[in-house]
Amino acid sequence: MLICVSPITCTCGQAHHPGARYYASVRRDDVVIVLAAGPYLSHQEALAVVDDVREIAVECYNPDGRAYWYAYGTVGMPHDYTTPGTLNADLTRRINARAIARIVPLPPTAPEYVKACPAPTRRHESYRPR
Ligand SMILES: [Zn+2]
Repeated sequence: MLICVSPITCTCGQAHHPGARYYASVRRDDVVIVLAAGPYLSHQEALAVVDDVREIAVECYNPDGRAYWYAYGTVGMPHDYTTPGTLNADLTRRINARAIARIVPLPPTAPEYVKACPAPTRRHESYRPR
């Protein structure tokens, strides 16, 4: 049975099939297309990780330097295609590391302040202006 549905207009300016699943993809120089990250429910989510996928491929899976020349982008797949992206685990680690790096350390508690500042000694007191 063929169901006719209206395409969804995406923020990228293109119309996409409703219900599609999206991946950040890598097109290698041997023309193999790797579904690297996904599936995502929106094209925007897949677009958001393309740069991370490129950096992971170049930094971690690039022994011969060819990953610099691969094509990085997105692909849409049917809604029932749910195979995890091959770089999902790498992407998760990268996103978590970035989130941890953004955490601002808390100021030391009062006892640490006390430890950081040495108690005044008689020598310090002798340098006080009179
Ligand atoms: Zn789009």
